Amino acid sequence: MKTILRVLGYLRRYPVLGSAQLLCATLMALSVIIFPSVTGHVVDEIIPNPERHGQFLFWVFLGLLGFFLKDGLNCARIILNNHFEQRVIFDIRSDLYQKLQRLPLRWFDGRRTGDIMTRVVEDVTAMERVLIDGIELGLVAIIQLLAVGVVMYLTNFSVALWATLPLPFLALGAWIYTHDARDRYRGQREAASDMNALLHDNVSGIRQIKSYTAETDEHARFNDFSNKLRQASLRIMRWWAFYSPGMSFVGMIGYALVLGFGGTAVMNESMALGELLMFFLLLSLFYEPVGKLHQLNQMALSSRAAADRVFDILDAEDEPHATDGEPLTQPVKGSVLFKRVSFSYGDQPTLHEVTLEAKPGETIALVGPTGAGKSTVVNLLCRFYEYGEGSITIDGQELKNTRKSSLRSALGYVTQEAFLFNGTVRENLCLAKRNAREEELISALKAARAEEFVRNLPEGLDTNVGERGVKLSGGEKQRLSIARALLKDPPILLLDEATASVDSETERLIQEALDALMANRSAFVIAHRLSTIRNADRIYVLDQGRVVEEGTHNGLLKKGGLYAELSRQSFLAEQEEALAPS
Ligand code: ATP
Repeated sequence: MKTILRVLGYLRRYPVLGSAQLLCATLMALSVIIFPSVTGHVVDEIIPNPERHGQFLFWVFLGLLGFFLKDGLNCARIILNNHFEQRVIFDIRSDLYQKLQRLPLRWFDGRRTGDIMTRVVEDVTAMERVLIDGIELGLVAIIQLLAVGVVMYLTNFSVALWATLPLPFLALGAWIYTHDARDRYRGQREAASDMNALLHDNVSGIRQIKSYTAETDEHARFNDFSNKLRQASLRIMRWWAFYSPGMSFVGMIGYALVLGFGGTAVMNESMALGELLMFFLLLSLFYEPVGKLHQLNQMALSSRAAADRVFDILDAEDEPHATDGEPLTQPVKGSVLFKRVSFSYGDQPTLHEVTLEAKPGETIALVGPTGAGKSTVVNLLCRFYEYGEGSITIDGQELKNTRKSSLRSALGYVTQEAFLFNGTVRENLCLAKRNAREEELISALKAARAEEFVRNLPEGLDTNVGERGVKLSGGEKQRLSIARALLKDPPILLLDEATASVDSETERLIQEALDALMANRSAFVIAHRLSTIRNADRIYVLDQGRVVEEGTHNGLLKKGGLYAELSRQSFLAEQEEALAPS
């Protein structure tokens, strides 16, 4: 019930469309009684009275007008319904999308993309169907049921009583069907989600599947999920296969009762033949909405399962300070201080009392074995995750109270794997600065050593780069993402250096691009190739979530600790790479 009420909240946004549609539906439901009433009148009053035969055609046209009215109103209702429905779907999707953007990364860590997509695309449509089609169908059905019922009882009370005798049994059947249906429908929605999630994963990883020749295994895995969806759907259909004909049969008993008792009444001359004929016409109009109500019940159950999944997202907690909190004082100078910061993703602590500092304009390198917590430091600075203990400040301002949009506009994050969106080079660059002029784009590309290859693309800046930038090389993607950060021109730069090896010419170009990017701003560099951070102002060495060493390249080498060891390994690795046949 709570779900239904929440869903109704969306309908209230369009009172005119909603009321106009309901008015059409109500008038349409009432107009169905015109033809049976006209038929009863013609058979009992017009046909037996030769002096009234002149009116015969008038009554036939009146009956036809009843149908015309019904279908004309239905046409208007459908048009209004379509607009109403599409607006509500649009609103729910828009709210969901907005909500998704406000959810913390922790929420996404525990979810599958395919599942989220199923909720936004399929579940919203399923949930909305009962809202609009359902409420309207239900209302039309109930009005028609009542109107026809009243006419039947006014026409002949005792025959009407027999005609409506199956109703309590139909209600009982509906209750039994509904009782544990929620599980069935939820099971089906979840099976659909699982299949979509696998499909999304496999399409994203199609290169890996092909390179490991895992097509047969993955096909079997897909079939497994698809089979679960088939079973879940069949479970629903099996119930429906018994429920729907069973209920139809119970309704038909009403016809047999009317034939028996109405026929007897006609034979006893306590009921006119036209009246009986009218009764049969009314009876079909009476049980038609009952059938619709059964369908509606099924639709409502499926819809509720879908709505639960949609509200599961809408009810999730926003990341703190997504829109509120203190903005950073402008202009941001770029001094960053981590003071005894501890953090954990789950039960195991990931960072222990980490203290580090970058003064405005300094380049800070984070070094350490894999899993040491380097990316986590950057994640906390962006407040992708919330730190509990310790403090992180920018220009002395505590980040716990800072508005995220203000914080993130002061940061430029160049990730290890350059992520490009499916769009043109221009669109990808403009993510950093919406209305960037052509000259600004070109100068960012020049500084990132990317101008030449972009100029050589078939359509230059307007070339589509494909999903995740699949049509570009690794080095080209990196330089574009550096150009994007240059265009943003943030006071603080976070750079997760790429590990993928590129040829020495590309490496030189990338290094030049990075030098341009790091100039005149504070920079945190997660360094995987130690040769690139020799000139860093300070190097912090992390191991198992702790800062174990700190100093300059030469100072740390002299110390002969973990950095010296890592440096030796890195040097050897680079030597090996240089010697490897290309
Ligand atoms: P690398 O050099 O391999 O990139 P790193 O030093 O950057 O490693 P982090 O990515 O910060 O290491 O990871 C630190 C620890 O936190 C690892 O043990 C990792 O498994 C864990 N971790 C990282 N991200 C998450 C996450 N989203 N959820 C749970 N655990 C995570």
